[in-house]
Amino acid sequence: MIQLLRPPFPSILLLLLAACADSPKQATGAFVPQAERPRNIILLIGDGMATPQISASLYWRGVGRSVWEQFPVVGFHQTHAHDERVTDSAAGATAFACGRKTKNGAIGLVPPDYTPCRTILEELSDRGWATGMAVTCSATHATPACFVAHQDLRAFSEYIAEDYLKVKLDCFIGGGSGYFNDRPDRRNLLDSLRRRGYIIRLGTAFNHLPLDGSAPFYLFTSDREPPSAHEGRRYLPSATAKACEYLQKRSPKGFFLMVEGSQIDWALHANDVNWLKAEMRDFEAAVIEALRFAQQNGETLVIVTGDHECGGMSLNTAKNPKQFEPAFTARLHSAAMVPVFAYGPQARLFSGVYDNTDIYFKMWKALGMENGK
Ligand code: MG
Ligand code: ZN
Repeated sequence: MIQLLRPPFPSILLLLLAACADSPKQATGAFVPQAERPRNIILLIGDGMATPQISASLYWRGVGRSVWEQFPVVGFHQTHAHDERVTDSAAGATAFACGRKTKNGAIGLVPPDYTPCRTILEELSDRGWATGMAVTCSATHATPACFVAHQDLRAFSEYIAEDYLKVKLDCFIGGGSGYFNDRPDRRNLLDSLRRRGYIIRLGTAFNHLPLDGSAPFYLFTSDREPPSAHEGRRYLPSATAKACEYLQKRSPKGFFLMVEGSQIDWALHANDVNWLKAEMRDFEAAVIEALRFAQQNGETLVIVTGDHECGGMSLNTAKNPKQFEPAFTARLHSAAMVPVFAYGPQARLFSGVYDNTDIYFKMWKALGMENGK
């Protein structure tokens, strides 16, 4: 039986129709027509999230109520690393950030000599864009690290923290303050950041942050890794919304925001269904915030994807024929292709089947600057 879709917020398809129809009356209220090109890019990465995890989450929520059904464009990317079929999150995020395949474990370094690559965040920041990251891991963890750091190994957390001092990042929300101020070398990198004009806050409250755009900031939500969503961590959706508002005020050129549902992957490594449920719900709420901003802004491209599958998850027949039984075939990553969901100006570039590195090139193309040149 075909079910009528009842979206949780005004349908993007209706919005697109309103944007295409040349009538301002149809684009009234909070929604604006979509521009031809984006000024802002929000890249949301569900670490370890591929089709099985999205399917499971969609069925848990009920068809017709999921955020996934709201996207007008869907594609797939192939995730393999430079020399291995199965990627890790470091090679995966380097592919998004630099448009280059690299070896597993490398942070923003590319073959043949494993020299630093310039990330889209670094490049846009140099060109005057406001940049930010909101994650549910520490700043030094592989995915956020690959957008700002260049290190041989993802485990070099203290060196990765030092690389944060070298990039003009306007806002960071996530864990890991301890890698900045509780270090074997006794340096206090939080003081170094303060000397560079950063406001540093600890906790998950968004008041007392310079959200008027007057200063760059770090909001450290924990000293190492943040708690999991099923232990009560809640900040990612509001961090996404606040970061969009803030970054919009930081630069008239536009902004680049990377949001990561970091612990989807950790739940999958643990083969923990309840943890996965909580992380998917949290990440989807962040995606809804990004879409809400994009709908009301009209110049924002939203891209949602994962870096790889994890857990070899399958959705098997259950005793109750209306349910499914989630199962895992591995505690590691797998080689499955990963879906890409896109909304906003130039979203159509993200349909089709392509490499994870193409996401980098498509982002530049969307901005009207091919290959970053
Ligand atoms: Mg990650
Ligand atoms: Zn993993």
